[in-house]
Order: sequence, then C-alpha cells, then structure tokens
Amino acid sequence: MGILIRNLVTASQCTAALRKFPKKIMSRRLNASRTEGVDKNVWVEFTQMAAEYNPVNLGQGFPDFAPPQYIQDAFCEALRGGPSMHQYTRAFGHPRLVNSLAKFFTGIVGHHIDPMEDVLVTVGAYQALYCAFQALVDEGDEVIIVEPFFDCYQPMVKMVGGKGVYIPLRPKVEGGDGAMSSGDWVLSADELASKFTPRTKAIVINTPNNPMGKVYKREELQVIADLCIKHDVLCFSDEVYEWLTYDGAKHVKIASLPGMWERTVTVGSAGKTFSATGWKVGWAIGAGRLLKHMKTIHQNSVYHCATAAQEAVARGFERELELFGSSKSYFRQLPATVNRKREKLAMCLESVGLKPIMPQGGYFMITDISSVEVDLNDPSTKDESYDFRFVKWLIKEKGLATIPVSAFFSPEHGKDFDKYIRFCFIKEDSTLDAAEAILRKWNTPHDV
Ligand code: PMP
Repeated sequence: MGILIRNLVTASQCTAALRKFPKKIMSRRLNASRTEGVDKNVWVEFTQMAAEYNPVNLGQGFPDFAPPQYIQDAFCEALRGGPSMHQYTRAFGHPRLVNSLAKFFTGIVGHHIDPMEDVLVTVGAYQALYCAFQALVDEGDEVIIVEPFFDCYQPMVKMVGGKGVYIPLRPKVEGGDGAMSSGDWVLSADELASKFTPRTKAIVINTPNNPMGKVYKREELQVIADLCIKHDVLCFSDEVYEWLTYDGAKHVKIASLPGMWERTVTVGSAGKTFSATGWKVGWAIGAGRLLKHMKTIHQNSVYHCATAAQEAVARGFERELELFGSSKSYFRQLPATVNRKREKLAMCLESVGLKPIMPQGGYFMITDISSVEVDLNDPSTKDESYDFRFVKWLIKEKGLATIPVSAFFSPEHGKDFDKYIRFCFIKEDSTLDAAEAILRKWNTPHDV
C-alpha cells in the first residue's frame, strides 16, 4: 500500500511537470535524420495485414513447410552439444561454420577462401548487406541498383548518405504480348555504362532475382564485371537463392569471373539455403581486405550470431559437401520440389487469364494485373499506388495475400510497374490449392 501511494504521488508529480513544461519535454527532435524517408516498409505493413486478416498467404518469402529433417536434427544435436553451444562464439563466425563455408565455396568460386579472413557470419543476409553498405559506402557515394531489387538496398544506401542510381531490367522485345520468361528481361549494356560516374562506389546485383526470378547469364555478368573493373567499382552480389534455378538456368557467381574476387562481396543465407528463414544465419564472402571493414561494423553492432544455429548450419554444409551433385543433396532436391510448385502456380494463374513472367530462379513469380477489372473503392488506400491498393483489396476481400511489385522499384520507376503483383510459391501444395480455389472464383478472366 505504501509503495502504491508513493507511486501515485510520483505519477501525479510527473503529470504536473508535464503540464508545467510541455514544450521543453516534447519539443526536442527525437529521430536521427537517417531514419527519415525510410520508415515505411512493405514487409512490416503486409505481415501485419496477414496477421490481421489471416489470408491464404503467398506474400512473404518463406516456406510454410519444415526444413529437411537432417538440418532440424543438426540443430537439436547442437543444442545438446554441451555448455559451449549455449555461449558466445567467435565474433566473425563460429569456427566450424566459417570453415565449412570456406571449404564449400572455394570450389565454386574458384578462388581459395580463407575461413578466418574472407568470411563473415551475420544475422541473415540482411545484416551482411547492412555491413557491406555501412562499411564500404561513404556519404556522397553513388550505388547502382538494378531494378526490380530487394527493397532493403534503397534504405541501406540512404542511411549511409549514399545516392542510389537505378537502372531497370527491360523486356528484350518492347510491346507485343510482353515477355513471358524472366530471362527475357535484360540490362542494356549502354544504359548500364552510362550510370557509372567517378562517384560510383558499388553496384548491387541479385541473382536469382527477387521478385522477378531472373538468373543472370555468364555473358550478362561479364558486362557488369568489365564495367566494375574499368571504373574500379565494388560489386555486392546478393545470391541468397543460388540453389533455386529451373529450366536449365545455371547460377554463376560474379566473384568467379576474372578480376572480380578482389572487388565482390557475395551474400548468402542459410534461411533460403536450408528452408529455415527463422534461424537468421547469413554470411558475406569476399577478399579479406573488404571483409575487414565489414567486420568492424559487425563487431560494433551485433558482435556475433547465435552459436547453436551456426553449428547446425555448419553441419548442414558438411553434409552437402559430401553429397554435392548427388540426388541425395538437398541443393538438388529442393529445386526439383519447388519447380513443381512453380509450374502449378503458373498454370493456375494462366487458367484465370493472367500472364505470369516465368521465373528461372528463386521462389517468386510476378504477374501483370492490368487486365483485371476491379473496383478499388476503399477510401483508406486512395492515395496509394495501384498495386498496393489492389493487394490490400485482395487480402481484405478475397483472403489472398501477395506483394505489390512497385515496392521493388525506386519511386522514379515504381509508377511504370504498379500493375504487377508478386506471388511466393515455396508453399505446401495445400496452400497453393487454397490460393487456386480463390483465384478460380474469378468468374471471368476480367472480373474478380
Ligand atoms: N536478399 C534477398 C534477395 C532476399 O529475398 C532476402 C529475404 N527475403 C534477403 C536478402 C534476406 O535474407 P535473410 O532472411 O537471410 O536475412
């Protein structure tokens, strides 16, 4: 009771103080300027909506099925592996994990990877990207970003005071029926060359690309590599979907091209690799002289990542190294499974009159919705772009969640792509069936 009264007195004193000095207490600017203009986030917004309306969720990019049994077992074994598994490990990556990543990727990159110098383990690919921008891009630097792009590149450039310079992939053939494969969307070599200036510090590429599913061919990467070398520019290569390619498309690492190891930071994700996005284990691989600066950011922010999760991912890579190329490898099984889902979703979208762009990689498919007639009369969304309004309507009225594609473009180019939505197809067949049932309720292709 005594405590209660004391607290009551304190609270009333506080209220009196607030009345007396309202401006003094509240007028000070709270946020650092780097938070301005980056406060909106498509994932926060649409994850919240999905929680509220409980739609069939083909929105955010994660599997709704369990990771392979062996990797789940590896995590359980790691947890039972003694006291050290529950304590801090090496800041820049658990020794077993950096060793297994270095061993695994040395053969693929074709360059010796030093586990202690050339690898940094991060909180998902997100933090690897964050460290790259923070450590290697300075105020006033320009960063070339290929559109459509994973949305976080833009705020990350902005937060370091850099300037995003955007270049969209464009369909090889303009007009007509439109390009139907992500491979038909290309960079113009001349346009790309025109984006390099003396201020350019880095280019960001994402292959296989989210949201379009483009897998860059070696020749396409060579054009980018030649420009990077000519202008002495870094390349941040986001390759989180590297194992997910289809129709014979081959993932090529730009770091493996001549002259590129020294200037490329390759970003990967155990979340995407082992279908365990909630573990949030990612990594950056690159020359020690680059990684050294990323480690500085890492050690002064996150310091190190969860030990047991890293141990489990290490065990996963050790197994995959043994089975590499065999039919037992998860890196072969996963794309085969996901390919069936890709085809199922494409057939479903086509059957209701939509024209998806067939992805050669990743686990997203985008489709044009301009032929769909729908009355978007929700006044609460009237100032938003067409695709945002459409997706909100689809969630609320039809119970199906997708993601608006203009979120993957700069504001300058978003307007040209506001008639596309993105579906995620790494979902249980039952989830895809439920989505199909909703889509089939469309009485005609042009009337939802
Ligand atoms: N890059 C791309 C292209 C992605 O799609 C994602 C996740 N959707 C990430 C990075 C982040 O990966 P992580 O979950 O490992 O942080």
